[in-house]
Amino acid sequence: MASINVDAVVIGAGPGGYHAAIRLGQLGKNVVCFDRDEVGGVCLNWGCIPTKALLHVGEITRQIDHASEIGIKVPKAEIDREGVAGFKDKVVKANVGGVGQLFKANNVTFAYGDASFAGKNKVSLKRKTARPTSTRRRRSSSRPGARRSTSKPGRTTATRSSTPMTPCSSNACRRTC
Ligand SMILES: Cc1cc2nc3c(=O)[nH]c(=O)nc-3n(C[C@H](O)[C@H](O)[C@H](O)COP(=O)(O)OP(=O)(O)OC[C@H]3O[C@@H](n4cnc5c(N)ncnc54)[C@H](O)[C@@H]3O)c2cc1C
Repeated sequence: MASINVDAVVIGAGPGGYHAAIRLGQLGKNVVCFDRDEVGGVCLNWGCIPTKALLHVGEITRQIDHASEIGIKVPKAEIDREGVAGFKDKVVKANVGGVGQLFKANNVTFAYGDASFAGKNKVSLKRKTARPTSTRRRRSSSRPGARRSTSKPGRTTATRSSTPMTPCSSNACRRTC
């Protein structure tokens, strides 16, 4: 079981976690962020962002349906469910990828897995190699620019339980891996 010493470990890459991790990175801290699922948490993947994308589709449809009221003649809107789902996925992917870029720009190391406290200043990560809801394997490789610290008092140790802890090569987005 290998371990690295960092200034901070952020568990969860939802809006709460990714903001904290990015800010810590901006403050020059050596930070790792763990998530057992998608970067962006509920908000980017299942909550705010996809619902707003779908609401946008609904709003456009409504405008098309009422276009004749303002003198615009258009055929009735037809919903292509796969097209709508594709649009929603694209919006989610762009947002998740954006967080990945911010991680990269601010030297936040990210890894997928279940994190748990193994001590007062120790967090262990049970790494995941594949997304639970997908059969597709996620590529991962070490990021050359990622900062690694030497052990210092007061620092948090992050340990991994199986394979070496390496950030996702595509800046945290499994969908683009
Ligand atoms: C349908 C819907 C629509 C919404 N719309 C809006 C909106 O328009 N505006 C708004 O402000 N809010 C909205 N929300 C609420 C918003 O999604 C949440 O407030 C926000 O996601 C909370 O962020 P968070 O980082 O606290 O938690 P989460 O987004 O839940 O992120 C927590 C992350 O931590 C990870 N995690 C937890 N424990 C561990 C562990 N032990 N190891 C590794 N990873 C772990 C989880 O996998 C998850 O990714 C909406 C929610 C839903 C469901």
